[in-house]
This record gives sequence, C-alpha cells and structure tokens, in this order.
Amino acid sequence: MTKFIVITGGVVSSIGKGITSASIGRILRSHGLKVGAIKIDPYLNWDSGTLNPYQHGEVFVTYDGMETDLDLGHYERFLDVELPGISNITTGKVYKSVIEKERKGDFLGACVQIIPHITDEIKKMIRKTAKMENYDVILVELGGTVGDIESQPFLEALRQLRNEEGHDNVLFVHVTHVPYLKAAGEFKTKPTQHSTKELRSTGINPDMIVCRSEKPIDKNMKEKIAHFCDVPIDAIINTPDASTIYEVPILMDEENVGEYISNRLKLNLDTNYKLDSWKKIVESLKKQAPIVKIGIIGKYIKLEDAYISIKEALLHGGGKNGVKVEVIFINSDVDSLNKEVLDDLDGILIPGGFGERGIEGKLEAVDYAIENKVPIFGICLGMHSMVIQIARRIGLENANSSEFSNDLKYPVIDMMEEQKKVKKMGGSMRLGSYDCKLVHNTMAKSIYGEDLIKERHRHRYEFNNEFKKHFEASGLILSGFSPDRFLVEMVELKYHPWFLGCQFHPEFKSRPNNAHPLFVSFIKASYDHSKNG
Ligand code: GLN
Repeated sequence: MTKFIVITGGVVSSIGKGITSASIGRILRSHGLKVGAIKIDPYLNWDSGTLNPYQHGEVFVTYDGMETDLDLGHYERFLDVELPGISNITTGKVYKSVIEKERKGDFLGACVQIIPHITDEIKKMIRKTAKMENYDVILVELGGTVGDIESQPFLEALRQLRNEEGHDNVLFVHVTHVPYLKAAGEFKTKPTQHSTKELRSTGINPDMIVCRSEKPIDKNMKEKIAHFCDVPIDAIINTPDASTIYEVPILMDEENVGEYISNRLKLNLDTNYKLDSWKKIVESLKKQAPIVKIGIIGKYIKLEDAYISIKEALLHGGGKNGVKVEVIFINSDVDSLNKEVLDDLDGILIPGGFGERGIEGKLEAVDYAIENKVPIFGICLGMHSMVIQIARRIGLENANSSEFSNDLKYPVIDMMEEQKKVKKMGGSMRLGSYDCKLVHNTMAKSIYGEDLIKERHRHRYEFNNEFKKHFEASGLILSGFSPDRFLVEMVELKYHPWFLGCQFHPEFKSRPNNAHPLFVSFIKASYDHSKNG
C-alpha cells in the first residue's frame, strides 16, 4: 500500500518546494523505500509543452514522451529514477478527462460539478500514478501557493484523500518562507502563521512545516511557529539557503525528517542508513577544485531555470572530473558575440531551442569553436547549428534549417517526414526515449562504450539526408543513427579536440551520482583545454 506525502507551499513562490519534496524523497529512498513523485500544476495548459521557457523554465521530457514541469527533473535527479509522464497532473488534464467522460454519457445525467467529479478525477489520477509503479511512498507536490484560486479543487481533493486513505497514510508538509527583516534585525514568523491559517481554512492541518530562510533560524523561532501553527516542535524543519541544492537532503536529515515521517506514517525504514553515499557526492561538488568555465549560448538566459537540466548535468560532469564548473550564460540574440567573453571560456554548449531568434549567435559560436579548437557540445537545436555552420563553411551558401525559412536552396536541417502532416502544436513532436545506434570508431562510441543507447527527444526537425554527400569532404562524421539508419542522431568533427552534436537531450538522464557520459567527457575535454589553452 502506498503512503502519500503531500507538499504545499505558502507565503511566496520560488522558495524551493520542488527541492524540498525531492529531498524528502531522497532521504526516504536512502532508507530503502521505493519513492515516486507527482507534480500538480494548477494551470489550464494540458502539459508544459506549449509554455514559453520564460513562464515556468525548462520543459522536462519523460522517457515516455510527456512534456512536463521542471520539478520532475529535480525528482528524477534526487531519486535517481525515471518517472512516467502521468506524474505531472494539470488542471487541463483533469478537466479534459472529466469533460470527455461527460460527452460519453458516463455521468448518467448527473450535473457535473467540481465536487465530486473534478475532485474524484484528481484523486483517481494520483492513485493511478501511485499504483503504476507500486511505490512505498509517493510525494505529491502542489504547485503555486495556498490561497491561489486555481489550487482550490486540488486542496479539496487532497483533504479528501487523507480522509479516505486514513490519517496514518497521508502526511501534509507545508513549505513556507521565514523572512529576515534587516531593519528589525530579526526573523519573522507571521507570514508562516498566516499561510498555515490559510491552509487550515481548506480543512488541511499540516503535519510538518518546512521553514525556508536565508540563514538558520533558532530554537525560539521554531517554538513560536510550533505554538502558533499547532505542529509538534520536532516537525518544524528549517532549511536555510544551501551552497548546492544537493545539500538540502543532508540539512533535512540533520533535522531528523526521516524519523519523524517514519513514525507518523508507520513506515518500515531500513536502519542500514545510506545517505552516506549522497554526502560523498555533495562533498565532491563542494570541495575546492580547479574551475572550468562553460558558456551556454542561448536566448532564454535571463531565466537560468530555462536551462536547468543542462546546468545540473554540467555540474555533475564537473564533480565526476574533480573540477568545479562555472556556468556562464551568454545571450545568442545579439548582433555579434563578445569575443573577449568567448576567449575566456574553456568549453561552449549550445542548448536546444525553437525559432530563428538568436540563431546567428549560435552559428557564430560554432564557427569560433572550430577556428579556436574549443570543445563544443551541441544539443538538438545546438546540433542543428553545428550542421548549418559547417554547411556554410563548405560553400553551401545561406544553408539553414527549414524551421527558419521555407525558401532555402540548402535546407540542411529539414522537417521530419512524419511531422509534415502534423497540425496541432501540443504534444506532437518526436518525444521521449528512442534507441540510437552508435558507429564504430567514433568519439560517441568510445564515450558511451556501448553500441545501442536510449536517449530522450523533443524535436520536429532533423539532419537532411539529401545533403549527406555534400558533407563527405567536410570532416563531419555521422556517429549515431536511429536503428533504421534513417535519422542522424549524432555528429562530430574530425581534427577537432571535442566537437559533438546530438539530436537528443542527454541532460535529462544525468544524475549527481551518475553523471551523463557525454557531459563527463565534455567537461574533461574543456578542463584539458583550460590547461593547454
Ligand atoms: N526547434 C528544433 C526542432 O524542433 C530543435 C528543438 C530542440 O532544440 N529541442 O527540431
């Protein structure tokens, strides 16, 4: 039977509910439990796929091809699991499903209402996800902050869930912010009191309050919160800002979070405690080490969350190599990239993206990396940029991707055949995990050390096979293919220390305890470049 840990947020958004949830999960997983996670996003979009990265950051892609909220990335990295796409529930999904049932006549003439029909559907979706993998514990994080109009049906459904599943099987964690007021010289608990009161008005009493703060809060503060919010003192947990997000499970562990949850939910925890290996990873990420500077050349750089999985994968790769990666975000949407900034980099990464804006900056970065033999890693649109720029360098004038123009003499990147008939925007790309065969005697093959790999995709455009022969003398090596050899999945460049592009998104599979081989190799090459260059 699965136990449910529901995480709500209060006071302000962006206080790290996702990391808090993932950290609780890591602690329980380290105790030997099978842990899953659900993110509820109360917006009306069916999935995250059509959202601009500036709205909610990166679109995370699950192995089964769901475009989801980036919190699923945190869960996967902290829990070291692959979550199914149904782990992301949105208002859009709930309403669509209920309305479809109504149209089929499933409600037998009943008036369809938020309670019970919408709330029943929410509970059904949560239970379905819990059952799919038979988790011991499933985390259910509710996006937004209590008090949001959009959250109401979800809070009501979660309240009902506790009643139906029983008090011993559902635990509520409320994550709040405890601000420090400089002028008063003290921390303030009032916002936490207010938001707990707001949560209570929905019929939910929190079992645990996680207080996020800039600096540690003292025992008196905790007692005050315990007193006013009616929560036991040992369930008032403080997580001050940490130097790396991977430290949060350790901070929470020091506050005995696992023990409290275990008692409260009557869990059978493995006493052979295994957070030690996690601590080693954190030490490797925190310790003094040579710096390797990696530039991410993209157009959504004002919001770092737009590239969160890539950033994390780079840090994992750094940890594995015993170096510290400094990520520098460089705007590709400029007339010309700043040469001085480029000269200072040890490696260049061109991430995925959509649309023409910023593409010329990416092409310029590819050209710079070729000329200066700087390691360069192209992901999806990044790989497209590599192919386009090499085409231009070998004389295919104005070569480009048909994503940016319909009238091209050299569309070296073109829309996939299966995409040409697609009319709707949402969920219609080539999505999720696909096999890729690696070619012998290539860098790709030696990095992975395997013939067949599985990586996650999210694209409509691909290398145009019509131009294969044009590239023959260019030094471009096609090093990975779909098993039918039709789609080019990876490219690299002869006579270059490290030049690799992939059509897929390896960043989604990197873990702090299991850094992705492409990122490990890229950071190694960049580190070598920093020493030699
Ligand atoms: N816009 C490109 C495509 O659709 C690249 C997508 C991406 O980088 N994820 O193929």
